[in-house]
Amino acid sequence: MGAPFSIPPPVPRMWIAGALVSATGQAPVLNPATLTPVTTAPLATCDDLDRAVDGARAAQPGWANRSFTDRAATLGRMADVLIAHVEELAWLTTLEQGKPLTAARGEVMRAAGAMREIAGIEIPRQTIRSDATGRVDLIYRPLGVIGAITPWNVPLILAAPKIASALYAGNAVILKPAPTTPLASLRMGELWAQEIASDDLPPGLVSILSGGNDLGTWMTAHAGIDKISFTGSVESGKKVMAASAGTLKRVTLELGGNDPAILLDDVDIPSIVPALFGGAFGLSGQLCMGIKRLYASASIYEDVVAAMTAAAKAAVVGDGTDPDVTVGPVQNEAQYRRVLDLIEDTRRQPGVRITAGGRASERTGYFIEPTIVADIAEGTRIVDEEQFGPVLPILKYDTVDEAVHRANASEFGLGASVWTQDVARGAEIAARLEAGYTWVNSHVGTTRDLPFGGIKQSGIGRQGHFIGVTSDMEPQVIVIPAAGTADESRIQALEFSE
Ligand code: NAD
Repeated sequence: MGAPFSIPPPVPRMWIAGALVSATGQAPVLNPATLTPVTTAPLATCDDLDRAVDGARAAQPGWANRSFTDRAATLGRMADVLIAHVEELAWLTTLEQGKPLTAARGEVMRAAGAMREIAGIEIPRQTIRSDATGRVDLIYRPLGVIGAITPWNVPLILAAPKIASALYAGNAVILKPAPTTPLASLRMGELWAQEIASDDLPPGLVSILSGGNDLGTWMTAHAGIDKISFTGSVESGKKVMAASAGTLKRVTLELGGNDPAILLDDVDIPSIVPALFGGAFGLSGQLCMGIKRLYASASIYEDVVAAMTAAAKAAVVGDGTDPDVTVGPVQNEAQYRRVLDLIEDTRRQPGVRITAGGRASERTGYFIEPTIVADIAEGTRIVDEEQFGPVLPILKYDTVDEAVHRANASEFGLGASVWTQDVARGAEIAARLEAGYTWVNSHVGTTRDLPFGGIKQSGIGRQGHFIGVTSDMEPQVIVIPAAGTADESRIQALEFSE
């Protein structure tokens, strides 16, 4: 099926304080598979951001007065709009990001699904003490305005739940997508603006602005934004945290990972290779919680290397709009050069074997052949750093304790997995892995009814689940005297304050 719009697609507009607006400044958005511009995207100014913040602050109090049920109904309508336009949003995603169309369609559906999952989370009013003197309740109140900043690997999957969580919690939200992948996010805003009644989604409650990294720094410094919900690299996350200190903004940071997957010696290799390959090379390895280090027991090591090498050689690398393609390009030039540099550094390591790939593809575009690295260990860049590209080191271990120790010896702690036919043993080992999210016999795959996030330098806080939604809120204690004890309580309070 061809693109559901003429190529190039229309230049998208920003959604600011309830109006769809163009901008004088425009930046080209490059297709990483062809190195030609898809179209251009607006460059927001400081004034644009100020208007978005003013609109958000005006809309938020009324929205906060609505019930969770009403807010959930709006999120359902927003999810419906994404599903109704799955083809258009998927094509835009593939053109700007590079991933195969099937993956892009999955991204749109997952983004809609995540909005619904968040809308189903209960945030009850809790009574935490109750006796003859009265009752103490704990409620959660919205923060105000949330600034959402997203990276370029899965723009919609990351933007939609951030928006959903902020709105469901009673906040307004301002989204800034990555400079190299703003199109699908901006189009999502246009569709919501056009197809959702303003009674359901009041003007100004959601704004979507595109621009460079400087727009992100303006957001982190803006006094009218109460929290930054950031997904991106560790390096940028640290800058966001430092900049947010000036206004004491709350932060949720979803940062990089270097996820280990540990294969015990009882695995059935042929049956798990498709999942291992997908976990490592899905999205061309540009997945925060992708498998980035594969640990195989010495007794099965050569068989694992051979099977993963065969899978890498069988992958079809190319333009994501071609239905036969399984591995698309790296998304941008900086990342492409970084991954090639990592491969060159790896090649120089003594004794290393590169058993598949190991080079850029000859076709135009940021293509790198799926690369398998064997006979490599910690202390090398490809093992210790987050590669975020189609390169997988396979490491040999002798004992499970050793594998756990080596897997944990990382500054990252996003995801981790254990693979074994003994699921109970796998669960015990998974609990010893230092990560925010661990799997047995799978890797990748989350839903937003569960809390997702990293430990150590992989981030701060969680998204999704009660934990994530209430991190877009503040707890508030309400002390209520029993009927007839009001005077007594007042006297106690006075004594206490003196
Ligand atoms: P990045 O940090 O360069 O950029 C992410 C976003 O932050 C972009 O929108 C960018 O414009 C903005 N930004 C950059 N500098 C900023 C600053 N100083 N202040 C405010 N905003 C700023 O990351 P990237 O290269 O786009 O994405 C790749 C990284 O994202 C990888 O490390 C990957 O692991 C991580 N990631 C993490 C998750 C997760 O859930 N933990 C998910 C996806 C990607």
